[in-house]
Amino acid sequence: MGLDIHLFPCLSDNYGILIRDQASGLAATVDTPDADAILAEADRLGWRLARVLNTHWHPDHAGGNAAVKDATGAEIVGPQEVTRIAPLDRSVVEGDTVPLGATTLTVIDTRGHTDGHISYYAPDAAAVFVGDTLFALGCGRLFEGTAQQMWSSLGKLAALPDDTAVYCAHEYTASNARFALSVDTDPAVAARCAAVFAARAEGRPTVPTSIGLEKATNPFLRAPLLAGALGPFHGDAEAFGLVRAAKDGFKG
Ligand code: ZN
Ligand code: FE
Repeated sequence: MGLDIHLFPCLSDNYGILIRDQASGLAATVDTPDADAILAEADRLGWRLARVLNTHWHPDHAGGNAAVKDATGAEIVGPQEVTRIAPLDRSVVEGDTVPLGATTLTVIDTRGHTDGHISYYAPDAAAVFVGDTLFALGCGRLFEGTAQQMWSSLGKLAALPDDTAVYCAHEYTASNARFALSVDTDPAVAARCAAVFAARAEGRPTVPTSIGLEKATNPFLRAPLLAGALGPFHGDAEAFGLVRAAKDGFKG
């Protein structure tokens, strides 16, 4: 028994992510970017949504909470910040566990993109749902948090097993790859970026990625090795901050 995971594109560049515990048949949606699309996909699969798992409060993640709850009665779980825009039934913090039938998801505090951003780790399924924290070859912008906070959050994700599948909330990878090539000459990065461009040219998703692949090629996780070319820094979090700032200003 395990966890089925269904990924589908929605809105302009979001991914909808539905998960289903095989033992119980209970299903959940990670975030609610587009309620109509989520309900249609769940219907098509014959999955009954018992939970919403919010990662953060942004409208492209929690904006569909009310509509999904109305249609399904799903329990809405997320960080307290979600109540800024949407209903929440259970507020969770780092270390809390969320059951889905026989599957257990553990909450990791991954603040930085927003002040209360969390991720959900399913160790038995070797999968982590990271919202807008870690992207394939990228990471979330620092809208509410500091470089220190985001570096610490990324460090928690990087500490998961290399074969952990990483489900990001957006398809930003081609743009991230153009930036990666501008700051990193490592051959593994070049090879990966070529694969990313080929996948996107054929309309294939680049999500999920894996912790091992990100550790080897993601310029934000590799920031301490790369930041020397961008400016002076003291410590890994400042190195990360330099790479983040360079990406914010990157026109690629
Ligand atoms: Zn966001
Ligand atoms: Fe987002």
